[in-house]
Amino acid sequence: MERSSKIYIAGHRGLVGSAILRKLQADGYTNLVYKTSQELDLRDKNQVDEFFAEEKPEYIFLAAAKVGGIVANNEYPADFIRDNLMIQTNVIDAAYRNGVKKLLFLGSTCIYPKFAPQPLKEEYLLTGELEPTNEPYAIAKIAGIKMCQSYNRQYGTKYISVMPTNLYGPNDNFDLHTSHVLPALIRKFHEAKENNAPYVEVWGTGTPRREFLYSDDLADACVFLMNNYEGNEIVNVGVGEDISIKELAEKIKNIVGYQGEIKFDTTKPDGTPRKLVDVSKINALGWKASISLEEGLQKAYQWFLDNVAVKT
Ligand code: GDP
Repeated sequence: MERSSKIYIAGHRGLVGSAILRKLQADGYTNLVYKTSQELDLRDKNQVDEFFAEEKPEYIFLAAAKVGGIVANNEYPADFIRDNLMIQTNVIDAAYRNGVKKLLFLGSTCIYPKFAPQPLKEEYLLTGELEPTNEPYAIAKIAGIKMCQSYNRQYGTKYISVMPTNLYGPNDNFDLHTSHVLPALIRKFHEAKENNAPYVEVWGTGTPRREFLYSDDLADACVFLMNNYEGNEIVNVGVGEDISIKELAEKIKNIVGYQGEIKFDTTKPDGTPRKLVDVSKINALGWKASISLEEGLQKAYQWFLDNVAVKT
């Protein structure tokens, strides 16, 4: 990308898109295009086609998606598969028809088989059954990857797909019903502290292990890959280390400064037992995460205090 290239960030108000936008602005890219979902509904092919005809972007970061945690995925499976298939199909196809130079598609590590060996290598894609709680979402993301690869093969496009591990950071979803574990725990511990509640309920057994990447690290990786990676194969982005939900809860409890107990609600699902990505490919390309979990949690809690806690 040149500093003056026209770059479209799809999903710029979300956790990932907002981090990519901040990164591009900080790096001096000046010709950035973005629209809210009210201004441009990416599920609507006509609106997408009109937008491309008008704006003619050269590069695209496709970070627009319907996302949510374990309960949201369980309750709204139709919305997850439909909205994601529509958004990505409309954008990837319009990119091709409008001669976009390069597109970066954001996937997710839930595309890997539930019982794949850990850490998850890129080549494990489609080698086993998926985790049932988010299978519709994962199938949509796998379709997006295959679409990028197929367009590259048939049409000679340069579309790359990036699989981030669990993410957190500014503009995360802190709604207790639909969010992922990390923002949910920030909110739960904060509110328990404010209300002097005797305990905080953490879902599941606390034994599942997850890896957490701060969104600014992912944005850094995405800009790096857009400028340095042309391969057809997917690329994982993570920190290369995981932590149990119990350990995560204890860390967040300390950062928030909550004194009460932690209780595990085992009527809630655990989901996949472990999710850790193999990051040797992106490391070999010359990129490594730089924000530690401690630092990221401090920043995420501060963002919550400044932006969410003040309004509730
Ligand atoms: P996943 O990584 O796709 O399984 O999605 P989540 O981030 O929603 O859940 C990760 C793990 O954290 C699961 O084992 C959840 O049961 C557990 N967990 C513990 N407390 C919570 C909570 O308050 N919200 C969510 N979403 N998950 C929680």
